[in-house]
Amino acid sequence: MTGDHLKALLGLQAATPVLIALYDPQDRLRYANEAFRSAYHVGKDEAPTWAEIMRRNHAAGRGTVLETDDLEGWIAATLHRRGKVPFRTVETDLHDGRWLLMTETVDQKGWMLCIASGITDVRAGERKLRQDRDFALRASQVDDLTSLPNRRYTMERLKEFIQNCAENPHMWGCVAIIDIDYFKAINDRFGHYRGDEVLLDFARQMQEFVRRSDCFGRIGGEEFMLILPDTTVSEANLILDRLLDKIRSARPLSNIPEFFYTCSVGLAEYREGDSVGDIYSRADAALYIAKREGRDRVSRFTLPGSGDEFSPDQTP
Ligand code: GH3
Ligand code: MG
Ligand code: MG
Repeated sequence: MTGDHLKALLGLQAATPVLIALYDPQDRLRYANEAFRSAYHVGKDEAPTWAEIMRRNHAAGRGTVLETDDLEGWIAATLHRRGKVPFRTVETDLHDGRWLLMTETVDQKGWMLCIASGITDVRAGERKLRQDRDFALRASQVDDLTSLPNRRYTMERLKEFIQNCAENPHMWGCVAIIDIDYFKAINDRFGHYRGDEVLLDFARQMQEFVRRSDCFGRIGGEEFMLILPDTTVSEANLILDRLLDKIRSARPLSNIPEFFYTCSVGLAEYREGDSVGDIYSRADAALYIAKREGRDRVSRFTLPGSGDEFSPDQTP
């Protein structure tokens, strides 16, 4: 591209009514054109996160129309599915009456390009139908209790992760299965309702450990899966040890302040030629060992003599 081309491109993206924004892997807005900044009321030198943009616009009755009574819950649930696929389109309406077709394109490092065009006058009659379809799609991907990705959605991400690794020699990563310890006893002792509160606490505590390129979902009653692309098994081990520390010190039941819980983790790394079932079974086998060896620990699947022993000096 010549200097003239670049100048024309920059001039046009500043002038177009199409909204253009670039988010970094931490979901912080790193660039936005004038159309985007004015739609979402972002100043020229600001770099808010997507969640901050949603909060401030919601509070002021501007930006995207959000149909929820629980803004923080909505943000947390959306973050778990935002930027998890390389490309998707969503339709949204703005408080100013505009209707947008928003596209999100994500690269392997987690940078996201958002481009949104106004479609207020396009096929207005079908809009409601399309929005209903988007809501139904969301419902089919989200777990009712925790608002985390459900089993079906998580398994789709696992399949994609395995495919990426198989097609790209530079891609690798780990899969962890996390299971709450003695959960049946928690239910038996404190009731199912308190058990649900513990599950919700776990989903919340986990949030800070999940990057955009990861996927964290509920795959069973008190069983969760964390997919960690681009992560060595030593890095994953450290992340999960920090998670166990955090869970151990959480006190989720306000009326029983001494109550605490723990969880166990089975960890497996991608190996060449793996199928979804292969890596899942290894993580599951490792979880079984973590349980057998006393729970509240991370166990890594290793083959005797495989040379992949834990080496702390690989950590970032
Ligand atoms: P371990 O340490 O070996 O994992 O033992 P555990 O008791 O956690 O495992 P087990 O599989 O025996 O029990 C899991 C329990 O989780 C049984 C089931 O009733 C409960 N459960 C499953 N889904 C839910 C839910 O949505 N809410 C509540 N409160 N309990 C649930
Ligand atoms: Mg359990
Ligand atoms: Mg279980």
